[in-house]
Amino acid sequence: MKLNAKAIYFNGIVQGVGFRPFVFKLAEELGIKGWVNNSSNGVTIHAEGNNLDLFYQRLRTEAPPLAQILIARSEEIGIKHYGTFEIVESESETESEADVLISPDVATCKDCLRDMDNPKSRFYQFPLTNCTNCGPRYTIIRDIPYDRALTTMSKFQMCKTCAMDYKNPKNRRFHAQPVACGNCGPKLQLMDDLGKPLPGIGLDQLAQGGIIAVKGLGGFHLVCDAQNTKAVRRLRERKERGAKPFAVMARSIAKARNEVNISTKEEKLLRSSAAPIVVLERKQESTDSLPEEIAPGLHTLGFMLPYTPLHYLLFEGPSDFLVITSANLSGRPLIYTNEEALETLQGIADFFLIHDRDIFHPCDDSVVQVIGEEEVFFRRARGYVPLPILMSAYHVKVPQLAVGGDLKNAFCLAKGHRAFVSQYLGDMEGYENFQRFHQELESFQRVVNITPSLLSYDMHPNYQMTRFALEQPWPKQSVQHHHAHLVSVLGEWDRTEPTLGVICDGTGLGEDGCIWGFEFLYGNSLGYERKAHLEYLGLPGGDVGAKHPLRIAYSYLRTLLTDETWDKTKHLWSSLSTLERQILDRQLETGVQVFQTSSAGRLFDAVSGLLGTCTKVTYEGQAAIELESAAVRFFKSNKQYQNKYEQFSYPYEVRVENEVFILGVGVLLEELVYDLLKGVSPEKIAYRFHVTLAQAIVDLAVRLDVESGPLVLTGGVFQNKLLTEAVLSNCKEKGIRVLRSRTLPPGDGGLAFGQLLIANEVL
Ligand code: ZN
Ligand code: ZN
Ligand code: FE
Repeated sequence: MKLNAKAIYFNGIVQGVGFRPFVFKLAEELGIKGWVNNSSNGVTIHAEGNNLDLFYQRLRTEAPPLAQILIARSEEIGIKHYGTFEIVESESETESEADVLISPDVATCKDCLRDMDNPKSRFYQFPLTNCTNCGPRYTIIRDIPYDRALTTMSKFQMCKTCAMDYKNPKNRRFHAQPVACGNCGPKLQLMDDLGKPLPGIGLDQLAQGGIIAVKGLGGFHLVCDAQNTKAVRRLRERKERGAKPFAVMARSIAKARNEVNISTKEEKLLRSSAAPIVVLERKQESTDSLPEEIAPGLHTLGFMLPYTPLHYLLFEGPSDFLVITSANLSGRPLIYTNEEALETLQGIADFFLIHDRDIFHPCDDSVVQVIGEEEVFFRRARGYVPLPILMSAYHVKVPQLAVGGDLKNAFCLAKGHRAFVSQYLGDMEGYENFQRFHQELESFQRVVNITPSLLSYDMHPNYQMTRFALEQPWPKQSVQHHHAHLVSVLGEWDRTEPTLGVICDGTGLGEDGCIWGFEFLYGNSLGYERKAHLEYLGLPGGDVGAKHPLRIAYSYLRTLLTDETWDKTKHLWSSLSTLERQILDRQLETGVQVFQTSSAGRLFDAVSGLLGTCTKVTYEGQAAIELESAAVRFFKSNKQYQNKYEQFSYPYEVRVENEVFILGVGVLLEELVYDLLKGVSPEKIAYRFHVTLAQAIVDLAVRLDVESGPLVLTGGVFQNKLLTEAVLSNCKEKGIRVLRSRTLPPGDGGLAFGQLLIANEVL
């Protein structure tokens, strides 16, 4: 065979993932000569040999597990007759050319666990070990290119052995930037709440019910024994957490199976290198080893598996389950520095387990749930950020920033065919969260190498994000909330054609000044038409009223029910004070401080309040989440109802006003109230309510000529598994193809990406 020479280029996630050692080994195996290097434009290979096609093919198909090749290209070049194959030093290029993707953080690999178990290894029990296949990435990176000097590991000098491993292409730690061992790496320290150093890592303290603030990969966690009811209760009280569920880390899948059902898909997610929290269904015949206090009133539990070496060490204690919850004060951002933890968590944590590897990009744990065979993001952060969304149908000509919404904020930066969505940053109403937004916006620009000069934001004039946007000097565009939701999904599917979408969420300002939230929009990034929506209902107090489900129920029913039916409901309002009722009556009469809303979220709240499943909201979405739990409890213990959605639907009304379909829920709520007065169980009513909405959604889609689709389903309400699966089932029956978000949350965490694509057309 003839000797050839080729230049091969790869781009994508090809740095810090063991790509060059892999190239080196493959070249040796196939007798290829030449060199490979890393540059800010990716990996370049000069290859000479007589089976270059095979080499090129195997490079693409056998790349290391964490590598993601986005661009691969090769060309014939002149032969230079190299005698060896070598890894050459990185070329340095100007920063503006840098185009290499940074990897998200990766859960500890099997080889590293083996090192930790081996008493002869210098990584024995070393709580911060890592290699090219695992460990911290995004959270420790200050700037690009990804090089130790630009990470928070720069202050640690490698010992001789580590340095040798780092330089040896055949070693698993070759060019693993955060490499360190027990001799040269960061040190762990346990201390009490007065800062007094203590021996060990806190296993005894956990076993005795203590609460430990543990420095994790993306920030601090508060950790306690999940089987110790008193400890869990104490943590809940001290954190002033209301009823919001805690996540649980299980020693193993096998142990988790005692508590929750785990499908193959869910197991794959739990074991994935992103290691997210997966929301799983509690076993009905549970052994009850986990107290109700972990997730009060819910049929689900959020589980994850250990994903750092330190987590594995914590499971050397007796407990099979640990509560692992983000360490932050209510409404404040995640704590990630030792100083802040020691100061702020006084009185919450009994002990502190800290180390001196700094976190640069704080990241909460990601949260997903499998809904209709696909994972749906509730929160996207550690393990997924900063992976890009790749688009070929969309091209962002001028580097752009979209700031997102105020709730569950995440912003988006894009240029060319790539969009990067930041980690979840929380509720922007909180001053500290807003400061965190500023901080991350500044450093995220460097990591993804995008300096924006255009801006997009939500139409809502009172959003913190809108005020921020208006202060910026760049050309800017405001975007309607639900339009952004729709286009976010289209962008993820790389679809540009006008498409029908149903967007169900809690709140978003509409073009007409009302609060929208159950919307059928037809359109794409160029524009939209509002085709159908839930009828407008008066919501006294607006978003503040949303925290009191029973008041919403009262207001809705007062408006919708006939006087005759209303008179029969008197006893349903006994937990509202006379004064509360008088105020509501007056507001409804005068219309003062009453907001017109078509919000799906508020309808769930109203029903939840009416049924008594949730009367006081202590966390966002609680009323709807507890209503779903009630419905699922019914559905699970009455299998004859399974998948027979149609026959359990309440009636509803569809009317047409100005060529727009309006979903009327007066008859629905009236029937529902009659059920309640008859003594039908709230669980069954909750189930029938879900089924009705699923029915109405698909009915409206059909009336709007969706035909075979696709139909976009998005908005935070589609984090409701029961509702979504009922809609999916109805769509399947009617032959309607459905598009849902894939790598972004359907809620406001995915908003920024849609804003950006819309502004990209306008600006
Ligand atoms: Zn490893
Ligand atoms: Zn070392
Ligand atoms: Fe929304």
